[in-house]
Amino acid sequence: MICEMCGADVPKLKKIMIEGSNLSVCQKCARFGHDHTVNKVLEDSTYSTTIGERLQRREKRLKTKDVFEQSSDELALDYPKRIRKARSSMGWGQDDLAKKINEKKSVVAKLENGDMIPDEKLIKKLENALGISLKEKVSAVETPKRSSPRKGLTLGDFLKVEKE
Ligand SMILES: [Zn+2]
Repeated sequence: MICEMCGADVPKLKKIMIEGSNLSVCQKCARFGHDHTVNKVLEDSTYSTTIGERLQRREKRLKTKDVFEQSSDELALDYPKRIRKARSSMGWGQDDLAKKINEKKSVVAKLENGDMIPDEKLIKKLENALGISLKEKVSAVETPKRSSPRKGLTLGDFLKVEKE
């Protein structure tokens, strides 16, 4: 299930209310919502197809990499492939990599199958052990900023405005 805020693929989503709109987000992003609305874990059965389709389209758009504006570093969507490729190019088995990062072999297997989302700490360990990057620039959550009339104003413009 894909978090509507950060695009992370997580096993469980929380439904929260942000600025009047309902979003299904991961645990991390749920913190941005108001606590009293963070009360309902969205079950698979209530996961609407419409949202699913919308998120799939967004995922595709993120992959096209033409959205560098407002971008931030996120876990690459193809991290399982990156890990497996880097590991085999090192000539390591899953158990070798597991030892390097101090985790169980099953953790490596899950990561490579995309069954587990590594947290920041695990990402760092994997990146260091394999000498690769698991992050990529992706567009941040769509915000109205894009159409803000202030966009393009320089500091000089602001100063002028203040003098008037
Ligand atoms: Zn999220």
